[in-house]
Amino acid sequence: MKRILMHTCCAPCSTYVIKKLREEGFNDITSYWYNPNIQPFDEYKHRLETLKEYTKMVNVPLIINDYYDLNDFLTVVMNYGGIRCEYCYRMRLEMSVKYAKENGYDCFTTTLLVSPYQKHDLLKKVCEDLAKEYDIEFVYYDFREGYHEGQQMAKDAGLYRQKYCGCIFSRDEAEMQRDAFKKQEEERHRKNREEQEENRKRKEIHWFLELLKEIYCLTSYLGFKEDFIWKKLQLLL
Ligand code: SF4
Repeated sequence: MKRILMHTCCAPCSTYVIKKLREEGFNDITSYWYNPNIQPFDEYKHRLETLKEYTKMVNVPLIINDYYDLNDFLTVVMNYGGIRCEYCYRMRLEMSVKYAKENGYDCFTTTLLVSPYQKHDLLKKVCEDLAKEYDIEFVYYDFREGYHEGQQMAKDAGLYRQKYCGCIFSRDEAEMQRDAFKKQEEERHRKNREEQEENRKRKEIHWFLELLKEIYCLTSYLGFKEDFIWKKLQLLL
Protein backbone atom coordinates (compact mmCIF):
# COMPACT_ATOMS: atom_id res chain seq x y z
CA MET A 1 0.00 0.00 0.00
CA LYS A 2 1.42 3.39 -1.02
CA ARG A 3 2.02 6.05 1.61
CA ILE A 4 0.95 9.40 0.29
CA LEU A 5 1.76 12.84 1.68
CA MET A 6 -1.01 15.28 0.88
CA HIS A 7 0.05 18.90 1.06
CA THR A 8 -3.05 20.58 2.49
CA CYS A 9 -3.92 24.21 1.91
CA CYS A 10 -7.07 24.13 4.08
CA ALA A 11 -9.73 21.79 5.49
CA PRO A 12 -12.52 22.53 2.97
CA CYS A 13 -10.23 21.70 0.03
CA SER A 14 -9.15 18.46 1.70
CA THR A 15 -12.70 17.04 2.01
CA TYR A 16 -13.15 15.84 -1.55
CA VAL A 17 -9.44 15.10 -2.08
CA ILE A 18 -9.35 12.66 0.86
CA LYS A 19 -12.57 11.03 -0.38
CA LYS A 20 -11.23 10.65 -3.91
CA LEU A 21 -7.84 9.33 -2.80
CA ARG A 22 -9.53 6.74 -0.60
CA GLU A 23 -11.76 5.70 -3.49
CA GLU A 24 -8.62 5.30 -5.59
CA GLY A 25 -7.14 2.94 -3.01
CA PHE A 26 -4.93 5.30 -1.01
CA ASN A 27 -5.58 4.27 2.56
CA ASP A 28 -2.41 5.62 4.10
CA ILE A 29 -2.82 9.37 3.72
CA THR A 30 -0.98 11.98 5.77
CA SER A 31 -2.02 15.59 5.65
CA TYR A 32 0.87 18.06 5.62
CA TRP A 33 0.36 21.69 6.59
CA TYR A 34 2.84 24.24 5.31
CA ASN A 35 1.22 27.51 4.26
CA PRO A 36 3.18 30.59 5.38
CA ASN A 37 1.43 32.48 2.57
CA ILE A 38 -1.78 32.93 4.56
CA GLN A 39 -2.39 36.43 5.93
CA PRO A 40 -3.19 37.90 8.31
CA PHE A 41 -1.96 35.60 11.06
CA ASP A 42 -5.45 35.32 12.59
CA GLU A 43 -6.67 33.85 9.34
CA TYR A 44 -3.69 31.47 9.29
CA LYS A 45 -4.56 30.21 12.77
CA HIS A 46 -8.24 29.89 11.94
CA ARG A 47 -7.54 27.75 8.87
CA LEU A 48 -5.05 25.61 10.75
CA GLU A 49 -7.43 25.04 13.67
CA THR A 50 -10.16 24.04 11.21
CA LEU A 51 -7.83 21.55 9.58
CA LYS A 52 -6.88 20.05 12.95
CA GLU A 53 -10.56 19.59 13.70
CA TYR A 54 -11.33 18.04 10.31
CA THR A 55 -8.38 15.63 10.14
CA LYS A 56 -9.49 14.29 13.51
CA MET A 57 -13.03 13.84 12.19
CA VAL A 58 -11.87 11.82 9.18
CA ASN A 59 -9.04 10.05 10.95
CA VAL A 60 -6.13 11.36 8.88
CA PRO A 61 -2.81 12.08 10.61
CA LEU A 62 -1.70 15.69 10.35
CA ILE A 63 1.89 16.98 10.25
CA ILE A 64 2.18 20.69 10.98
CA ASN A 65 5.07 22.75 9.73
CA ASP A 66 4.23 26.06 11.34
CA TYR A 67 7.06 28.18 10.02
CA TYR A 68 5.54 31.61 9.46
CA ASP A 69 7.39 34.73 8.41
CA LEU A 70 5.34 37.51 6.90
CA ASN A 71 8.41 39.59 5.96
CA ASP A 72 10.05 36.73 4.10
CA PHE A 73 6.96 35.93 2.12
CA LEU A 74 6.08 39.50 1.25
CA THR A 75 9.63 40.48 0.31
CA VAL A 76 9.84 37.65 -2.19
CA VAL A 77 6.36 37.90 -3.71
CA MET A 78 6.67 41.66 -4.11
CA ASN A 79 9.60 40.98 -6.42
CA TYR A 80 7.76 38.22 -8.28
CA GLY A 81 4.94 40.54 -9.29
CA GLY A 82 2.46 38.80 -11.64
CA ILE A 83 4.03 35.38 -11.14
CA ARG A 84 3.93 35.38 -7.35
CA CYS A 85 1.73 32.25 -7.35
CA GLU A 86 4.45 30.23 -9.04
CA TYR A 87 6.83 31.08 -6.22
CA CYS A 88 4.11 30.44 -3.66
CA TYR A 89 3.26 26.98 -5.06
CA ARG A 90 6.88 26.00 -5.36
CA MET A 91 7.79 27.18 -1.88
CA ARG A 92 4.99 25.21 -0.23
CA LEU A 93 5.26 22.12 -2.35
CA GLU A 94 9.04 21.88 -2.24
CA MET A 95 8.90 21.83 1.55
CA SER A 96 6.22 19.11 1.38
CA VAL A 97 8.18 17.03 -1.13
CA LYS A 98 11.34 17.27 0.96
CA TYR A 99 9.41 16.09 3.99
CA ALA A 100 7.91 13.23 1.97
CA LYS A 101 11.34 12.12 0.76
CA GLU A 102 12.99 12.33 4.16
CA ASN A 103 10.19 10.40 5.81
CA GLY A 104 9.77 7.49 3.44
CA TYR A 105 6.57 8.44 1.63
CA ASP A 106 6.04 6.87 -1.80
CA CYS A 107 4.25 9.79 -3.39
CA PHE A 108 2.70 13.21 -2.84
CA THR A 109 -0.16 15.38 -4.01
CA THR A 110 -1.80 18.66 -3.02
CA THR A 111 -5.31 19.76 -2.15
CA LEU A 112 -4.66 22.94 -4.16
CA LEU A 113 -5.55 20.85 -7.23
CA VAL A 114 -9.22 20.83 -6.21
CA SER A 115 -9.74 24.55 -6.54
CA PRO A 116 -10.96 26.00 -9.85
CA TYR A 117 -9.58 29.33 -8.61
CA GLN A 118 -5.96 28.15 -8.65
CA LYS A 119 -3.71 28.25 -11.71
CA HIS A 120 -4.17 24.54 -12.24
CA ASP A 121 -1.75 23.96 -15.13
CA LEU A 122 1.00 25.95 -13.47
CA LEU A 123 0.45 24.09 -10.22
CA LYS A 124 0.58 20.72 -12.00
CA LYS A 125 3.78 21.72 -13.76
CA VAL A 126 5.41 22.78 -10.46
CA CYS A 127 4.48 19.40 -8.94
CA GLU A 128 5.79 17.48 -11.96
CA ASP A 129 9.09 19.39 -11.86
CA LEU A 130 9.50 18.72 -8.15
CA ALA A 131 8.69 15.04 -8.66
CA LYS A 132 11.56 14.78 -11.17
CA GLU A 133 13.92 16.87 -9.07
CA TYR A 134 13.37 14.85 -5.90
CA ASP A 135 12.66 11.52 -7.58
CA ILE A 136 9.28 10.92 -5.99
CA GLU A 137 5.92 10.07 -7.58
CA PHE A 138 3.42 12.87 -8.00
CA VAL A 139 -0.17 11.62 -7.80
CA TYR A 140 -2.34 13.68 -10.09
CA TYR A 141 -6.11 13.76 -10.43
CA ASP A 142 -8.10 16.66 -11.71
CA PHE A 143 -9.84 17.03 -8.36
CA ARG A 144 -11.68 20.10 -9.66
CA GLU A 145 -14.52 17.84 -10.80
CA GLY A 146 -15.33 17.36 -7.11
CA TYR A 147 -14.96 20.98 -6.04
CA HIS A 148 -18.66 21.63 -5.43
CA GLU A 149 -19.13 18.27 -3.74
CA GLY A 150 -16.20 19.08 -1.46
CA GLN A 151 -17.58 22.51 -0.61
CA GLN A 152 -20.90 20.88 0.28
CA MET A 153 -19.08 18.32 2.46
CA ALA A 154 -17.31 21.21 4.22
CA LYS A 155 -20.61 22.99 4.74
CA ASP A 156 -22.24 19.84 6.12
CA ALA A 157 -19.32 19.34 8.50
CA GLY A 158 -19.68 22.96 9.68
CA LEU A 159 -16.12 23.87 8.64
CA TYR A 160 -14.92 27.44 8.35
CA ARG A 161 -14.71 28.31 4.62
CA GLN A 162 -12.48 31.23 3.71
CA LYS A 163 -13.27 33.70 0.96
CA TYR A 164 -9.81 34.14 -0.58
CA CYS A 165 -6.73 32.17 -1.52
CA GLY A 166 -4.30 33.25 1.18
CA CYS A 167 -2.06 36.28 0.72
CA ILE A 168 -3.21 39.88 1.22
CA PHE A 169 -3.07 40.43 -2.54
CA SER A 170 -5.57 37.64 -3.10
CA ARG A 171 -7.73 38.98 -0.28
CA ASP A 172 -7.91 42.40 -1.94
CA GLU A 173 -8.44 40.91 -5.40
CA ALA A 174 -11.29 38.75 -4.13
CA GLU A 175 -12.84 41.75 -2.39
CA MET A 176 -12.59 43.83 -5.57
CA GLN A 177 -14.11 41.01 -7.63
CA ARG A 178 -17.00 40.75 -5.19
CA ASP A 179 -17.51 44.54 -5.43
CA ALA A 180 -17.46 44.44 -9.24
CA PHE A 181 -19.90 41.52 -9.22
CA LYS A 182 -22.20 43.39 -6.83
CA LYS A 183 -22.18 46.45 -9.11
CA GLN A 184 -22.92 44.28 -12.15
CA GLU A 185 -25.82 42.67 -10.32
CA GLU A 186 -27.23 46.06 -9.27
CA GLU A 187 -27.00 47.25 -12.88
CA ARG A 188 -28.71 44.07 -14.11
CA HIS A 189 -31.56 44.53 -11.60
CA ARG A 190 -31.95 48.19 -12.60
CA LYS A 191 -32.20 47.23 -16.30
CA ASN A 192 -34.70 44.46 -15.47
CA ARG A 193 -36.87 46.91 -13.56
CA GLU A 194 -36.77 49.38 -16.48
CA GLU A 195 -37.67 46.63 -18.95
CA GLN A 196 -40.57 45.49 -16.78
CA GLU A 197 -41.87 49.05 -16.56
CA GLU A 198 -41.54 49.46 -20.33
CA ASN A 199 -43.44 46.19 -20.90
CA ARG A 200 -46.17 47.25 -18.51
CA LYS A 201 -46.65 50.53 -20.40
CA ARG A 202 -46.68 48.71 -23.76
CA LYS A 203 -49.32 46.30 -22.47
CA GLU A 204 -51.48 49.20 -21.27
CA ILE A 205 -51.27 50.95 -24.66
CA HIS A 206 -52.06 47.68 -26.43
CA TRP A 207 -55.03 47.09 -24.15
CA PHE A 208 -56.29 50.63 -24.77
CA LEU A 209 -55.97 50.30 -28.56
CA GLU A 210 -57.86 47.01 -28.42
CA LEU A 211 -60.57 48.76 -26.46
CA LEU A 212 -60.79 51.50 -29.09
CA LYS A 213 -61.07 48.86 -31.79
CA GLU A 214 -63.90 47.17 -29.93
CA ILE A 215 -65.75 50.46 -29.48
CA TYR A 216 -65.27 51.27 -33.16
CA CYS A 217 -66.58 47.88 -34.28
CA LEU A 218 -69.54 48.09 -31.93
CA THR A 219 -70.56 51.58 -32.97
CA SER A 220 -70.07 50.71 -36.68
CA TYR A 221 -72.31 47.74 -36.13
CA LEU A 222 -74.93 49.98 -34.54
CA GLY A 223 -74.82 52.14 -37.70
CA PHE A 224 -73.08 55.30 -36.53
CA LYS A 225 -71.16 57.22 -39.13
CA GLU A 226 -67.34 57.15 -38.99
CA ASP A 227 -66.82 60.90 -38.39
CA PHE A 228 -69.39 60.76 -35.60
CA ILE A 229 -67.55 57.83 -33.99
CA TRP A 230 -64.20 59.55 -34.34
CA LYS A 231 -65.49 62.70 -32.66
CA LYS A 232 -66.81 60.63 -29.78
CA LEU A 233 -63.51 58.79 -29.44
CA GLN A 234 -61.61 62.07 -29.40
CA LEU A 235 -63.85 63.17 -26.55
CA LEU A 236 -62.79 60.02 -24.69
CA LEU A 237 -59.10 60.79 -25.33
S1 SF4 B 1 -2.92 34.15 -4.65
FE1 SF4 B 1 -2.72 32.27 -3.46
S2 SF4 B 1 -1.25 31.02 -4.57
FE2 SF4 B 1 -1.04 33.12 -5.33
S3 SF4 B 1 0.56 34.03 -4.04
FE3 SF4 B 1 -1.36 34.52 -3.07
S4 SF4 B 1 -1.67 32.88 -1.58
FE4 SF4 B 1 -0.11 32.18 -3.02
